[in-house]
Amino acid sequence: MSSSPVRCMPIGPRSKALFEEAARLLPGGVNSPVRAFKAVGGQPVMIEQAHGCRLDDVDGHSYIDYIGSWGPMIVGHAHPAVVKAIQEAASLGVSYGAPTQWETMLARMVVEAIPSIELVRFVNSGTEATMSAIRLARGVTRRDRIIKFEGCYHGHADSLLVKAGSGAMTFGVPDSLGVPSDLARLTITLPYNDADAVRESFRSVGTEIACVIVEPVVGNMGVVPPKPGFLAALREITAAHGSLLIFDEVMTGFRLGKGGAQALYGIQPDLTCLGKIIGGGLPVGAYGGPKKIMEQVAPLGSVYQAGTLSGNPLAMRAGIETLRLLDEPGFYERLEAKGEQLETGLRELAAKEGVALQCQRVGSMCTAFFAEHPVIDYQTARTADTDRYAAFFWAMLERGVYFPPSQFEAAFLSDAHAAADIETTLLAAQDALATFRHRQH
Ligand SMILES: *Cc1c(COP(=O)(O)O)cnc(C)c1O
Repeated sequence: MSSSPVRCMPIGPRSKALFEEAARLLPGGVNSPVRAFKAVGGQPVMIEQAHGCRLDDVDGHSYIDYIGSWGPMIVGHAHPAVVKAIQEAASLGVSYGAPTQWETMLARMVVEAIPSIELVRFVNSGTEATMSAIRLARGVTRRDRIIKFEGCYHGHADSLLVKAGSGAMTFGVPDSLGVPSDLARLTITLPYNDADAVRESFRSVGTEIACVIVEPVVGNMGVVPPKPGFLAALREITAAHGSLLIFDEVMTGFRLGKGGAQALYGIQPDLTCLGKIIGGGLPVGAYGGPKKIMEQVAPLGSVYQAGTLSGNPLAMRAGIETLRLLDEPGFYERLEAKGEQLETGLRELAAKEGVALQCQRVGSMCTAFFAEHPVIDYQTARTADTDRYAAFFWAMLERGVYFPPSQFEAAFLSDAHAAADIETTLLAAQDALATFRHRQH
């Protein structure tokens, strides 16, 4: 590549026209902010279809996809078994508002995979899962305050949209307008990976704290692993103060292994939030925990939570088929090998080009931070060069690789990514990083 500045990809004419039409009817043309590509400048490509690890846009460009619908598509897009289950379910009626065997079946798969969960309630999104888990924690402890960590994203419920990650971080609105200050005041935000700050908070107001909610591995400020001992400290401190520990495993659940981050790090939370993979790409969330806590949820208990479409049969069956595929021998070993191939490749390329790149990865979640030092919390994430990331993003897209359109999001691998796809990705990255050689930053 030459030293010419990276252009925005010439968005195809159909993408351009369709997005302009969308923007006349939807705020920003999208139904979830990061999709609008604002963090990288320019306008998004409109997707026509996806199969395996490939996304095709409406102009016939094909991309190797590292978004995977932001996490759910761990077996790849349009997996035949998942498609078949959804088709079968649809032919039997798409929603009943009455119990089905499929809810029990998916619940059993969740309970068997995650020992800290005895009872589980299905909802329609990760947002609903965390919102409901917080309500339950407040109900059980009869306390109002909660602790969350800066840069962790737990969906967009009011109490949790305080110093949040993901799109909220990307757009510089970690504290959204419209969140009542009386409510936000009940949310204490602390730096991720700082157990002393948690200890300090509990020392001063411990008897008022209902729960600590955490992404056990952060994905929503880019990938930030927990420091050794951080999760164990949270477990110990919350237990000592009669406060609940909530692991938000909406992203990590069934991604870092069948038992999620809690199995990987050997820490049992009181409540677990799930979403993304358990719906196989359909709208599903869940929260669960031991009987003595979950029995406080209506209709057994006095913490109310409901949903017209919760436990939807199409969504349950997409989830069931997806989780079944995770049982294939060697599934997570394959993902790990691919993750390592991508990480090592990117590291080597960056070193060769003299580009400061922190490739942070846990299993099949990975972020390439354009930063001088490892990212351990919100403050260090903010040192990343987002202009450089944007240039990298577009250079990759031009070369047929679709990375997340924000520095502060994780890239995801799926079982459908072949070693050859990752090689292709690394060739594109080599080109993309070489374009930085002559540019000043
Ligand atoms: C995606 C995500 C959520 C929100 O889930 P939605 O289905 O988008 O509402 C919550 N927590 C974490 C950790 C997530 O990654």
